[in-house]
Amino acid sequence: MEELVETIPPDHPRAESLKIRHRLTEGYKKGLVVEAGLIAHGRGEAFDYLIGEQTQPYALKAIKAAVAHLLLAKYPVISVNGNTAALAAESLVELAKEVKAKLEVNLFYRSKRREELIAEALMKAGATQVLGVGEAASAKIPELQSERRKVDPEGIFKADVVLVPLEDGDRTEALRRLGKTVIAIDLNPLSRTAQTASVTIVDNVVRALPRMVEEARALRKVPIDELRQNIENYDNKQVLSEAIAHILERLAELAEKGVLLSL
Ligand code: ATP
Ligand code: MG
Repeated sequence: MEELVETIPPDHPRAESLKIRHRLTEGYKKGLVVEAGLIAHGRGEAFDYLIGEQTQPYALKAIKAAVAHLLLAKYPVISVNGNTAALAAESLVELAKEVKAKLEVNLFYRSKRREELIAEALMKAGATQVLGVGEAASAKIPELQSERRKVDPEGIFKADVVLVPLEDGDRTEALRRLGKTVIAIDLNPLSRTAQTASVTIVDNVVRALPRMVEEARALRKVPIDELRQNIENYDNKQVLSEAIAHILERLAELAEKGVLLSL
């Protein structure tokens, strides 16, 4: 399979996107990623295409607020599913270290094997502890029907701030109802996850997570009051509007220029 990546010409306009796909299909073959995860990625890709496959200013604003929340949290937890583990295990582990957060496996399609594979991928990337595996996921988020309701009493259950890269709308809402601050990374600014999170980073997890690590290193040196100010001044509704406006303006510009030559 390695040869396949090597055959993607570096000047291919979708080279980066194809490499990301390859990571996911490899994750699928290993058993980390499920079929539905591949489809979910496709929905994300479509939005990434519209956004321009680059981290935009509204995402940087959200990243700053998100990292401020994580640094100020009493008990921050990062929720990890199959796609994020396959795409960004190293960044997840680095971020957890920088903001002193716990890592917890949380899956829509739970199986013992997948839990273990994901935990293993995180350990291989340098994690020292992974919550939510097997019997450890013994607490439940009320009102939620899917397997994602199962959480670790020492993790998401007791967290005040939860980072949920690639989340499902139902659980984002349920976590908010429990009074938690929810940070989502979602390429679709219209999804229920994006619309109901406290802070929504409209960007690809592959770009957003390494940026969050950099931001955490920078913001760790900033006085607490400044971090608090950053959170107070943050307006997620505004950020989502900016994301939608960006897509609108970009498409309008492309429509005017004649799309094909400018892509
Ligand atoms: P919701 O449940 O929040 O209404 P949905 O049902 O439309 O959303 P899901 O199938 O639950 O979507 O989850 C897939 C979501 O993850 C999509 O919104 C998609 O944009 C996003 N997504 C997929 N891959 C990535 C990625 N690599 N980076 C960021 N977001 C992604
Ligand atoms: Mg959904």
